[in-house]
Amino acid sequence: MHQPLRELVQDVTRVIDRSSDEETIVAAVKSSMRKLVAANGWLPEEFTRCTGPSYSQHLLYCDPLERFSVVSFVWRPQQCTPVHDHTVWGVIGQLVGEEVSQSYDRLPSGKIVAHGPPEVLRKGEVTTVSPREIDIHVVRNASRDETAISIHTYGANIGRVNRNTYDLATGERTTFVSSYSNSVLPNIW
Ligand code: FE
Repeated sequence: MHQPLRELVQDVTRVIDRSSDEETIVAAVKSSMRKLVAANGWLPEEFTRCTGPSYSQHLLYCDPLERFSVVSFVWRPQQCTPVHDHTVWGVIGQLVGEEVSQSYDRLPSGKIVAHGPPEVLRKGEVTTVSPREIDIHVVRNASRDETAISIHTYGANIGRVNRNTYDLATGERTTFVSSYSNSVLPNIW
C-alpha cells in the first residue's frame, strides 16, 4: 500500500547520497513526486485528516541525517497559510483537490510585492520553492467544499527549521518553526 512513498524516499536518498547540487536533487525529486501524486490509495487515512483548527502538516518521513523530509499537508475548504518562506528547496505535488499559490518578491526595502499571477496546482501537478529563486508565497485550498491534500518534500527536517512569515502591509518579518501535527512519529513502512 505504501510502496509509492517508499520509492520516493529511496529515490531521494539515492540522489542526495551522490549529489549536493540543488538543481540535480530538485530535478530528481520532481520526477519522483510526479509518480507519487499520480498514484492513489497509498496515503494512510490518519495522514489525510485535518486534526486541528488549522490545516495539518503530517510528517511522513524524515531522513535520519535530516537532509530531507516528506510531509502531507491537509487543508479544509478555503484554509490559507500566512505569507511565508521555506529557506530550503521544496517540491510540492498535488494529491487531492486543488490549491492556489501566490508568490512574492521581497524588495531591498523589505517591501513584499506579488510575483506574477496566482498559480493553481491540480491533481498530479508538481511545483517547487527555493531560496535561490522564489521562496515566499501564500497557499490556500481553492475549493469551497472539498479537502485538498498536497505532498511536500523539503531539503531539511522542515518542522524544525527557523523560517519566516511576512506582513504584506508592512513587510515585517517574523521567525517561526512550523513543527508537525503528528502526535506520534509515523511508522508506515
Ligand atoms: Fe509554502
